[in-house]
Amino acid sequence: MARVLITGGGGFIGSHLCGSFLKRGDEVVCMDNYSTGSHENVAGFASHPKFAFVDHNVSTFIDVQGAVDYVLHFASPASPVDYLELPIPTLKVGSLGTHNALGLAKAKKATFLLASTSEVYGDPLVRPQSEDYWGNVNPVGPRGVYDEAKRFAEAMTMAYHRFHGLDTRIVRIFNTYGPRMRMRDGRVVPNFITQALKGEPLTVYGQGQQTRSFQYIDDLIEGIHRLLESDEHLPVNIGNPHEMTILEFAKKIIEITRSKSSIVYKPLPQDDPQVRQPDITKAKNLLGWEPKVSLEEGLLRTIEYFRDRLRERKR
Ligand code: UDP
Repeated sequence: MARVLITGGGGFIGSHLCGSFLKRGDEVVCMDNYSTGSHENVAGFASHPKFAFVDHNVSTFIDVQGAVDYVLHFASPASPVDYLELPIPTLKVGSLGTHNALGLAKAKKATFLLASTSEVYGDPLVRPQSEDYWGNVNPVGPRGVYDEAKRFAEAMTMAYHRFHGLDTRIVRIFNTYGPRMRMRDGRVVPNFITQALKGEPLTVYGQGQQTRSFQYIDDLIEGIHRLLESDEHLPVNIGNPHEMTILEFAKKIIEITRSKSSIVYKPLPQDDPQVRQPDITKAKNLLGWEPKVSLEEGLLRTIEYFRDRLRERKR
């Protein structure tokens, strides 16, 4: 049994991680300032004897009493809309927040895992993206606040590993979806699903020819656990290689929800990556991991979640 600190534990991915550790019998300290996470995401664990919630902004010194075996650093705005609205907190949590979380892990002799991202590849010039690709990031563009913070976080994590001998992991997370995504976080999955369920037009940015590859949350959580159990310190991509254009994705959502929604085209955001597809050879070979949940299955579960949220709102 371990004691695990999850920063950003009130977020979409963080809350699923909290649940997965509790299920294994571990003790979870969930830390969040609800900047983009939410109380509702962890409400189901509130009375669990092994769950504790700490309201704290990890960009300031982190104090946790008692032993900690794992520090999982997931705190950060992660939707492009959020980090464009919160540019400085995003830079701070990726830099200062990562430094604080690493410092805590070092003091506690804990294993540290950084939630990194496919955004470190920027608008990639290669496809698929493997871990040895250095990326194509515009440091001074609007997305730079997230991309560069995460790149800095990776560099800082490797420095703690190399200089302090800290036991570290870096997971590069590709587009992930599932229940507990915020309905209004601006990302394509909640946008399209809620638009389709409400019968509103789906807002496709640009011509919708940019590609993404979507993985279901359960696959990601399994990948993170396997990475933790490994001894790999360099980054590992965890994502679903099933790539499609955003226009194809919009049509898929309309089909699955049996919606009568139309499609409208809106301007493409600046520096929007044109392609994104993980090369997961490393995860397959090293962790014996690959995604299991099909897009249809994952979307059906996610649509069900958003349907319930919309019903609650009407009440
Ligand atoms: N997108 C879109 N319509 C929306 C929201 C997003 O066409 O209502 C596009 C966006 O331009 C991007 C892709 O969908 O190409 C994925 O965007 P998201 O915000 O989910 O995250 P990203 O993968 O860019 O980090």
